[in-house]
Amino acid sequence: MNCSELMSLLVDFLGGELVQERRETVELHIRACPRCEVYVASYTQTVKVARALPKCGRLPATFEARLRQLLEPELKARQDD
Ligand SMILES: [Zn+2]
Repeated sequence: MNCSELMSLLVDFLGGELVQERRETVELHIRACPRCEVYVASYTQTVKVARALPKCGRLPATFEARLRQLLEPELKARQDD
């Protein structure tokens, strides 16, 4: 797995929607890749804060789709450092 693949799976990973085998692959990558470790940590924190807000339920489907679209170029920018 590379960083780009991890990003594409991140929403499902954090939502607990990956099969065990896929999940372990993601966890292995995060442990071996400091960039993704930091990225996942900050992303997780953001999700926690958002969920803690009052009257804030599950993300609207359109927002989640947009988030997925935003993650890919973000990663590419990091790889070009
Ligand atoms: Zn990575």
